[in-house]
Amino acid sequence: MKLIILGAPGSGKGTSAMVLREKYSLAHISTGDIFRSNIKNGTPLGLEAKSYIDKGQLVPDSITIGMVEARLKEADCANGYILDGFPRTIAQAEALDEMLARSGDKIDAVISIVVDDQIITDRVTSRRVCEKCGASFNVKYKPTKVEGVCDICGGKVVQRADDNEETVAARLKTYYENTKPLIDFYQAKGLIVEGDNNVDSDSCIRSIEEGLKALG
Ligand code: AMP
Repeated sequence: MKLIILGAPGSGKGTSAMVLREKYSLAHISTGDIFRSNIKNGTPLGLEAKSYIDKGQLVPDSITIGMVEARLKEADCANGYILDGFPRTIAQAEALDEMLARSGDKIDAVISIVVDDQIITDRVTSRRVCEKCGASFNVKYKPTKVEGVCDICGGKVVQRADDNEETVAARLKTYYENTKPLIDFYQAKGLIVEGDNNVDSDSCIRSIEEGLKALG
């Protein structure tokens, strides 16, 4: 199964993606995570991407599309994958369609996570992530058992540099301007499955699974 998950930063798409990955044995491909790991390792790609990410802007397509194409060729993608954070623009969606069509492939469903902006801002500014395994925690709603230590792998749990109120506002603006048209793009293809994450992740996952079944 080849899925895309769409949602504003902090909408909970990362958490839903992790659950779906386990359930359907998918590779979880988060372009944000790939950029952050490149930044951490000081690669040329990381250096280039950092200047955009720190300002809450999108990394240019010329960097992002090639990076995703290379990632989809890796062995763990053979059983299917869930794309998280890509595509973010119509140009990226069209490039994705083209790269899949070259191998006779297509996306099976596009999951759209729905949450109010106010809830997002509150969740994002209190979010913390594990540097090592990427697990997501929250100082208000889902604290780690030991402060600063990942419950899952024991890695260091930190606040992302771009998880502050100012950058969140910029990222939400970017999201609505550039990415919301994607929902229309995939709606026209009949691929959208909605996940309502205003309440909690369990009810969100339930609504996604029902939607996937309905798509067949
Ligand atoms: P995320 O972890 O998905 O919120 O991504 C963090 C940041 O990485 C974004 O604010 C962008 O600067 C950059 N980024 C991630 N995915 C993409 C993409 N598909 N296109 C452009 N920039 C991206």
